[in-house]
Amino acid sequence: MKILVLGAGVVGTAAAYYLASDGHEVTVIERHPAPARGTSQSNAGLVSPGDATAWASPAALKTFLRALYNHDLGIKVRLRFDPYFLAWSMRFLRQCTVSRLRANSQVKLRLALYSRDCINALSAETGIHYDERKKGILYFFRSQHSLDTGTDNYRFLAKHGLPIEIVGRDRLIELEPGLADAKDKIAGGVYSPIDQTGDSRQFVERLAAHAAEKLGVKFLYGTTVEGLDVEGGHVRAVMTSAGPVAGDAVVISMGPESGLLGRRYGIDLPVYPVKGYTATIPLEDESKGPTMGGADEDQLIGYSRLGNRLRLASTAEFTGFDRTFRPRDFAAMFRTGKELFPGAFDEKKAELWAGLRPMMPNSVPVIGQARYTNLYLDTGHGHVGWTMACGSGKFLADIVAGRKPEIDPQGLVYRN
Ligand SMILES: Cc1cc2nc3c(=O)[nH]c(=O)nc-3n(C[C@H](O)[C@H](O)[C@H](O)COP(=O)(O)OP(=O)(O)OC[C@H]3O[C@@H](n4cnc5c(N)ncnc54)[C@H](O)[C@@H]3O)c2cc1C
Repeated sequence: MKILVLGAGVVGTAAAYYLASDGHEVTVIERHPAPARGTSQSNAGLVSPGDATAWASPAALKTFLRALYNHDLGIKVRLRFDPYFLAWSMRFLRQCTVSRLRANSQVKLRLALYSRDCINALSAETGIHYDERKKGILYFFRSQHSLDTGTDNYRFLAKHGLPIEIVGRDRLIELEPGLADAKDKIAGGVYSPIDQTGDSRQFVERLAAHAAEKLGVKFLYGTTVEGLDVEGGHVRAVMTSAGPVAGDAVVISMGPESGLLGRRYGIDLPVYPVKGYTATIPLEDESKGPTMGGADEDQLIGYSRLGNRLRLASTAEFTGFDRTFRPRDFAAMFRTGKELFPGAFDEKKAELWAGLRPMMPNSVPVIGQARYTNLYLDTGHGHVGWTMACGSGKFLADIVAGRKPEIDPQGLVYRN
């Protein structure tokens, strides 16, 4: 089949790879002049089944409501008249029960664990490296109280197949000597040994090059998707800035923009952009940086070690499609980074970035056929799209081929 994949982020590029590996003739349409220039460009770098807990929860409900009037939290909500955001918020709030939290997290964990096997196999098969480190990730807490309450979600993931170790302060420093200078500020945490870190932009660029060279995937860069040419229950072509492109099947992987396209064609796809910031800084003293990825669960800062660079990430901001940033957006992140790794970096050398997480109200992506016989979705991966991209691409390729997916599709497929 001739398959058109819309979007060359980590999700679309992984899907293109698996579809082309199945023998399909694949064309990827991307508005930027290169792959991974959207959200996949500079995320926190955590490939983290350990982070599979859904965002919507009873605790998130309180934080979300507090964020409406307190703008100093890690979660920021800028109230504007935006009917799409209001509708999304109502759906998000409905997911904030313990039972929905558990159900959504379980689906995400299933996909994230599968995706981990897929990225490892893909990397072994293709020889693609991405500044990866397979040493695990530490999720840590500053106070005994937050450690006691915060480990609940990890224990739930552990019951459903995530190997974890709950660690006290001493064991934590033994695992991560880079945190030694911050030892007194940390009560303990959760170590997820199967998690890894890596540079998603590097991964996508190399995968796109491999897919083009070895599998014949065509990339139409600098080409904007403007709409779909639909007739009856079928998509005939994709309308682009370079004219119509016809195909037998179409996959929407446009990250945060997916919902905008979908809803023009009657697809209920509530993907909302949730902004976050990252700073990538060369390590001045490598011995003072982290040796593995981590997340400061009280300060809501994630970090990864990418070669000799440190990447810090923070903030969930509901502010529409605004991708701009100011130096002050990074102040809290640098403060925490220096507390954790004093002397490791000079923030003046940081490369600053902001991106938009393609977030579903339940934090679960949608993968599979939707509304039109030949239209597929692979989108809505939210805060863990780098973690779940390869598993999603393989899952989608199985569905397109009419094969039984290797994981239970329950909770992942689109309901028409
Ligand atoms: C601050 C931050 C930190 C994060 N940290 C992590 C992490 O540590 N681990 C993790 O797993 N995930 C993380 N994420 C989430 C992860 O980065 C995303 O889920 C993932 O990148 C989404 O990939 P995507 O391919 O769906 O979207 P994108 O990367 O945005 O790709 C979509 C592509 O579609 C293109 N496109 C859109 N509209 C059009 C159009 N009209 N025509 C043509 N092309 C179009 C875009 O240009 C883009 O290239 C983070 C996100 C943020 C913002």
